[in-house]
Amino acid sequence: MKNIYGIKRKDLEEYFLSNGEKKYKALQVFEWLYEKKVKSFKEMSNIKKEIQEELEKNFTFDKIKIAKKQEDKLTKKYLFKLHDDNFVEAVLMMHDYGLSVCVSSEVGCNMGCKFCESGRLKKVRNLESYEMVEQILLIEEDIKKRISSVVIMGIGEPLDNYDNVMDFIRIINDAKGLAIGARHITVSTCGIIPKIKDLIKEELQINLAISLHAPNNSLRDKIMPINKAYKLKDLIQTIKEYSEKTNRRVTIEYVMLKGVNDNVTQAQELASLLKGLNVYVNLIPYNETSHIEFKKSSYDDIVKFYDILKKNGLTVTTRKEFGSKIDAACGQLRSKEVIK
Ligand code: SAH
Repeated sequence: MKNIYGIKRKDLEEYFLSNGEKKYKALQVFEWLYEKKVKSFKEMSNIKKEIQEELEKNFTFDKIKIAKKQEDKLTKKYLFKLHDDNFVEAVLMMHDYGLSVCVSSEVGCNMGCKFCESGRLKKVRNLESYEMVEQILLIEEDIKKRISSVVIMGIGEPLDNYDNVMDFIRIINDAKGLAIGARHITVSTCGIIPKIKDLIKEELQINLAISLHAPNNSLRDKIMPINKAYKLKDLIQTIKEYSEKTNRRVTIEYVMLKGVNDNVTQAQELASLLKGLNVYVNLIPYNETSHIEFKKSSYDDIVKFYDILKKNGLTVTTRKEFGSKIDAACGQLRSKEVIK
């Protein structure tokens, strides 16, 4: 049996059609699920009893559960327990422009980036699309407010769980689903080139963010093992292709690691690597983790790095830090319950 929160409206329409029903029933079910937020088919009062029973035989409402919440001023971190006793985390961020959620896409992660906490646990399994939808639904229910943007930057590599992540995006982007605009959805990847090429074909207006973190292959090989499979030159070419074909500006994420990737020469190297591309660079102050060999760059070094990129004509921002006090910041999420 499939969980109803992992079903796209189009698939539900097909289900109804193949059962000799009208396809608008899918729209009605979506309204019950995502507008009226009922928790059973029985409550869907404009749907005939026999159809309700049929739906009950085919789809479940099983939920992931909130196991723990931690909060500071602008951030709330949620630990979710999944049906098989695995755990993932999601983070709610209260921006001045609205509420956004950083969702996890996998239990653990296989990418092995040397500085990231999430990769401490190798991938146990992909998250199902309903498990990603429910992270948002449960947070909305908890705070009684609507989430207006979603970043797929929690635990996991979203493009290593491509099909479920795409279904998830279509469900939350559906005007009758969670109605989160494509331009308010961001997928962040360490650079799985063939999957970025697939993403181009989806014709979605979502944002793509690339975790670059190094301006050359020798350094990137050392800190991000994925670079051994997909080299920088090809990644840059793919970014170019993505922005040309989708007409979207790509975000380049660059986490600032003290003495590793934050010197003046590296800033110049990064500027020439990105020259002429339709990108903007987001410098991320490193959030320190149990990987004690990595430290956060000094404020002065971040400013110097920023200035060099600016002088070279790039658009640059530094990421606002959220949640580091409760280990809810980028790269600090884990697939296990941590008792503090
Ligand atoms: N696997 C995806 C998404 C998850 S990580 C990806 O690689 O993009 C989200 C972002 O946080 C990535 O850019 C990642 O490199 C960065 N990150 C990881 N650990 C971090 C840390 N400790 N401090 C700051 N950013 C970190």
